[in-house]
Amino acid sequence: MGWHSVEYTEYIKSPEWKEKSRRCRQLTQNRCCLFPWRRSRYCHHMNYSHLKNEIPIRDTVGLSITAHQIVHLEFLWKSPLRKAVNV
Ligand SMILES: [Zn+2]
Repeated sequence: MGWHSVEYTEYIKSPEWKEKSRRCRQLTQNRCCLFPWRRSRYCHHMNYSHLKNEIPIRDTVGLSITAHQIVHLEFLWKSPLRKAVNV
């Protein structure tokens, strides 16, 4: 992703990110984008190309705990198909 994981981890823990996450999830009224009947708990990065300058929906989406676990499943997350979105 071009970022050292320590820097990424620090960013994800920051108040700046927490506020961005909250606003992104609010855009879909705190509904999961994959399973809209569920509440979104995570703000998921669709790509890492605009870290710290994310635009919601283009770069991040709100996901429920279950949807977030599914998206990050090894065989999906490591799929060659995902490279297409991670520009
Ligand atoms: Zn995620």
